[in-house]
Amino acid sequence: MTATLIKGTDIREEILEEITAEVSEIKEKHGAVPGLVTILVGENPASLSYVTLKIKTAHRVGFHEIQDTRPADISEKDLLELINRYNNDDQIHGILVQLPLPRHINEKKVLNAIDPDKDVDGFHPVNVGRLMIGGSEVKFPPCTPAGIQEMIVRAGVETSGAEVVVVGRSNIVGKPIANMMLQKGPGADSTVTVVHTRTRDLASHCKRADILIVAAGVPGLVKPEWIKPGSCVIDVGVNRVGEKVSEKTGKTVSILRGDVDFDAAKEIAGYITPVPGGVGPMTITMLMKNTLKSLKFSLGIS
Ligand code: NAP
Repeated sequence: MTATLIKGTDIREEILEEITAEVSEIKEKHGAVPGLVTILVGENPASLSYVTLKIKTAHRVGFHEIQDTRPADISEKDLLELINRYNNDDQIHGILVQLPLPRHINEKKVLNAIDPDKDVDGFHPVNVGRLMIGGSEVKFPPCTPAGIQEMIVRAGVETSGAEVVVVGRSNIVGKPIANMMLQKGPGADSTVTVVHTRTRDLASHCKRADILIVAAGVPGLVKPEWIKPGSCVIDVGVNRVGEKVSEKTGKTVSILRGDVDFDAAKEIAGYITPVPGGVGPMTITMLMKNTLKSLKFSLGIS
């Protein structure tokens, strides 16, 4: 059996088109567009490339987008004041602070200064609490877990009553996706197990999974014999295992591998995400979705 590929690159295009259409409809009816600001401190090249991609995507879907770059020696006080300014700016519905921040700035303090109603990353403690309560309390589910759930739903995989096993318990992937899958309602209603480095028998848990979500950051951790035949395997892992020269650009690029032995797993699973091109493209896509939601909340049309 060869699994159906769940491609984030395709789902991204579908969702971005839906967002673009909704943005132009809201603009026509209400004269408003979603506003997204990304705050970059310093010139870390990796951070700059992430921010550029976010801003490009925001531009593509018709948002009002601002890239606000500040020098690496900005004081914590000035950064907090800047955030406060955007918190009070009616044209801005989403505020992102690109991490990491320079050492002299307290990251937690800065992230917690963002108005929870503009925290489109969904990491503010208020939004973590809202996610835990579930249902209509949830405003901004964190983007990678939201992307994972969207992929499962759009692939048509049944989640109600499904055994979901999540490998990894980080605050950005493992814990929130586990929480989301166990909530009452469509795309969830699952029975969830979370496993980690202290779990006694990882294999036995994975073998029970109708939906296996792996976010460990260990290349090839999940062996083919751990996969239940016909199950849905979501590989969140992005591991740089070497370098190669790109045929397209001639530039040296990283060779990426997931946490699952993809070639063997695809012969056993019913659905599987590739790496790259699986979960990866979903994160920025869901960021756009959260920013659009934020505008809709502010207009009272959600
Ligand atoms: P993390 O903070 O390092 O957490 C990894 C989790 O996996 C931890 O809970 C750890 O357990 C568990 N783990 C590690 N090795 C394990 C093992 N051998 N057996 C069982 N559990 C193990 O990582 P993260 O931020 O969640 O990211 C996980 C992976 O997803 C990374 O490869 C990352 O690059 C990728 N990622 C991709 C996206 C995207 O595609 N958009 C977004 C975020 C992350 P303990 O808690 O016991 O240490």
